[in-house]
Amino acid sequence: MADRIRVTVWNEGRHEKTNEHIAKIYPKGMHSVIAEYLANQGMEVRTATLDDPEHGLTDDVLANTDVLIWWGHMAHHEVQDAIVDKVYNKVLDGMGLICLHSAHFSKIFRKLMGTTCNLKWREIGEKERIWVVEPGHPIAEGLDEYIEIEHEEMYGERFDIPEPDTLVFISWFQGGEVFRSGCCYYRNKGKVFYFRPGHESYPTYYNENVMKIIANAVKWAKPNNGPQINFGNRQPLEKVAGA
Ligand code: ZN
Repeated sequence: MADRIRVTVWNEGRHEKTNEHIAKIYPKGMHSVIAEYLANQGMEVRTATLDDPEHGLTDDVLANTDVLIWWGHMAHHEVQDAIVDKVYNKVLDGMGLICLHSAHFSKIFRKLMGTTCNLKWREIGEKERIWVVEPGHPIAEGLDEYIEIEHEEMYGERFDIPEPDTLVFISWFQGGEVFRSGCCYYRNKGKVFYFRPGHESYPTYYNENVMKIIANAVKWAKPNNGPQINFGNRQPLEKVAGA
């Protein structure tokens, strides 16, 4: 693994091309805003989008990615299954994956979770307050007890996910719902973090605290050089009587 964490920010990139309001918030796409922040943190960052050949996720790109960040919404179905399978295997082999906001319905997140990943939603621009519920977790480093986003889309429970290995954040919304908004999972050698904020029509990825959390998540999710696991039939390590 390189000294600098190698991050690939993947974005579907369609809303920014088709909606004037969203294009004004993210003229170069939200992937560019996320990438710029992480590059300023000293990370080695590249971007990839749905419309790039192989969705920008060639074997070479994946081989040089420690952590992949994923944002998608309106075109999940256009992501090729063969690419999803490659990303899935990379995660099991240790690549970190951070799924943002509407990526809860991405093929890759659903495949890794094995559940519907369905939820409640509402878009009226209400306030979101995100509470830290695991303050000792590396992803909570440098935060206050809670952060606030003035205008966001609401996501509400039940969120049909497997119980997180660690739940770091819970969101409260002005309209009354709550949501498990920062969920950590281990999948074989890989780590997966789901982080809720980031609806395309609000400037959420310019929020300093949101970006601090994403940067923390990259550091948490990077490969750890752990042992290579050998599955299957094994010879005993000790002499076993009667064997
Ligand atoms: Zn949304």
